[in-house]
Amino acid sequence: MSSLFPALSPAATGAGADRPALRFGERSLTYAELAAAAGGTAGRIRGAGRVAVWATPEMETAVAVVAALLAGVPAVPLNPKSGDKELAHILSDSEPSLVLAPPGCGLPPALGALGRVDVDVHATGPVPEDHRADDGDPALVVYTSGTTGPPKGAVIPRRALATTLDALADAWRWTGEDVLVQGLPLFHVHGLVLGILGPLRRGGSVRHLGRFSTEGAARELNDGATMLFGVPTMYHRIAESLPGDPELAKALAGARLLVSGSAALPVHDHERIAAATGRRVIERYGMTETLMNTSVRADGEPRAGTVGVPLPGVELRLVEEDGTPIAALDGESVGEIQVRGANLFTEYLNRPDATAAAFTADGFFRTGDMAVRDPDGYVRIVGRKATDLIKSGGYKIGAGEIENALLEHPGVREAAVTGEPDPDLGERIVAWIVPADPAAPPALDTLADHVAGRLAPHKRPRVVHHVDALPRNDMGKIMKRALTRG
Ligand code: ATP
Ligand code: MG
Repeated sequence: MSSLFPALSPAATGAGADRPALRFGERSLTYAELAAAAGGTAGRIRGAGRVAVWATPEMETAVAVVAALLAGVPAVPLNPKSGDKELAHILSDSEPSLVLAPPGCGLPPALGALGRVDVDVHATGPVPEDHRADDGDPALVVYTSGTTGPPKGAVIPRRALATTLDALADAWRWTGEDVLVQGLPLFHVHGLVLGILGPLRRGGSVRHLGRFSTEGAARELNDGATMLFGVPTMYHRIAESLPGDPELAKALAGARLLVSGSAALPVHDHERIAAATGRRVIERYGMTETLMNTSVRADGEPRAGTVGVPLPGVELRLVEEDGTPIAALDGESVGEIQVRGANLFTEYLNRPDATAAAFTADGFFRTGDMAVRDPDGYVRIVGRKATDLIKSGGYKIGAGEIENALLEHPGVREAAVTGEPDPDLGERIVAWIVPADPAAPPALDTLADHVAGRLAPHKRPRVVHHVDALPRNDMGKIMKRALTRG
């Protein structure tokens, strides 16, 4: 297969060209219409060095990115909600010459120096013949979510897109017959690569909700959509809504595949959804730098708290701090996940030191995520090395399992666990709790007993802070660096 989007190639225009490709609210495009629109836009940007895409959750964003891929011009999706400072950083880092945006859409002054191309979804132009899939040329520069530090621009080659989407197709039995519903932002890998480019590579279709709602997801799943992609905060809202929403329960029960990623899906939400619908959400694990690494397979055994097995073509190992590989599949030996394969990025833009530091001598990427492997090879992520591994009383404790235990307490709505320095223990376990009932927040003793009843006693929190909300980024990820007491 030599093009990224076989269904958009000139040869494919004809039979099947009136199949649906994209739908955003009331607006939709068939494959023939998308080919014409993206071809038209591609003609206007050919030869540009790099283009920015003002990535609103609208049709124009999908057309702009496809156009850039067809034209062979690397695209840099921008978060329209970025602050001025972040935007200025990304623009000076990635140096796009043009910005593609929906017609009439206001752009901040920071973008004033760029040439503007209004994306006309009704434009027509020929699809370039040469839209190869499998080389190392840069396709996208995607900025990481900024969960652990300032976002870094990951240069993603064309072959990584093709590789990861085909590996997911294998794992998920994903075909052109599938209809995806999603409501994810379009400036990160999840919503854009998996959620837009994925269906288009398969020749299937995607319906984007603009903004996620449980009603929208239910409506589309009850009207022919076969798959739902979401982040854990969305599945949390689903879990909360299910008891009073038979339409939603019916929708989920009828879906072919419910997929979660971008952060750990709390076990409590996984189990509540399973109990109410008979369906288990499957989790996949990936990063901007590596695209997708592991997933529970459609024909595998989905269970709570695991991200499944390495995808085809992904070499994955766990290593100790000194780099020694961990062979044991014992569900207990914690190591950093390292991966190698054609799914990897090529470099962090303008960050040769960070790029060099991210790779081992034998070409594995250091993910910074810690995990164990179960006897059947399933990977269970314990948390991030930087923020989720607490060294207390001689133990290495993952924040995730404590968070999962806390979330099972009826008095807890949301939970995050961190470590803070302790003269005796090295670090002590701190729980940040959003109480279910702000008038009756669960006390430290209650929560410590609750955790000690489920996990080993040394995993109980020593300090609890009650907060109104947890700091989360646009993917719903908890920003642990921002969890400070004042
Ligand atoms: P930054 O690198 O800027 O700090 P980030 O790591 O959140 O931000 P992304 O590349 O968007 O940026 O996210 C990748 C990370 O998300 C992974 O390294 C992992 O920590 C987390 N992640 C993704 N999927 C899962 C999952 N299914 N379970 C647990 N964690 C996940
Ligand atoms: Mg990261």
